[in-house]
Amino acid sequence: MGPKRLFLLGSGYLDIDRSVFIAGSRPGTRVRAPVYCGLIECDEGYVLVDTGLNPTGIEDPESAWGVRAKEAPPSMTPADDVRSRLRELGIRPEEIKWVINTHLHWDHTGANRFFKQARFVVQKVEYDFAWNPPAEFQKFYMSNHFRYPLDYWPVEGDLELMPGLKVLSTPGHTIGHQSVMVELPRSGPVILAGDAVYLEENIRRRVPPGNCWSAESSLSSLDKLGRLAEQENAVIMPGHDPDWWQNVRHSPPDYYG
Ligand SMILES: [Zn+2]
Repeated sequence: MGPKRLFLLGSGYLDIDRSVFIAGSRPGTRVRAPVYCGLIECDEGYVLVDTGLNPTGIEDPESAWGVRAKEAPPSMTPADDVRSRLRELGIRPEEIKWVINTHLHWDHTGANRFFKQARFVVQKVEYDFAWNPPAEFQKFYMSNHFRYPLDYWPVEGDLELMPGLKVLSTPGHTIGHQSVMVELPRSGPVILAGDAVYLEENIRRRVPPGNCWSAESSLSSLDKLGRLAEQENAVIMPGHDPDWWQNVRHSPPDYYG
């Protein structure tokens, strides 16, 4: 029963100003921030956490990624398409039973449309917000990424999807952001924080992201994850940390068991 292995699937990189990640930091330093999806192999089926960058952007950046193609230019190769990453493991998109979108920003929903068989777990407030965001948030919620007749399952708050796999409500970066806690047989508990923790520095220094829906709820969510990590002795995996990404186990062939 429950999770057996966690694979980290690279989905490309964003060329982005580091100040976006750390509130109050000085702009002017560009970083190459990884985008990735988590694939959790469970006895109950495969769970994908986020779907990464939209592969249409490889050929046609502006139509796929809108203004973000220039503001945070993605670099992506065909191998970074989540379908290619799954193929490397011998898995077809139809075999993904659940997709958990940490939130509905463009760099986390780029391949949602390829998972027609899956049930999408998303916080209800995030789902409602994404359809009609206020002007200043519109460029992050791209309609060409999530507006498909998919099986969206809007949930509220924390949820145990199955024994050993929990969705944790962690608002702040967005109105309905959520993180995922996985209990692995040997590695123990791991928290895929998503963009509640952009960089390890966010949690180490207790500093919210620079671009938040609410800095206050972002801090509460950092505290919630920090407490949980301490109680459960869990490892926190940040959403876009370049230094962290250099030292993780990449799929294929590596994984956390
Ligand atoms: Zn992101």
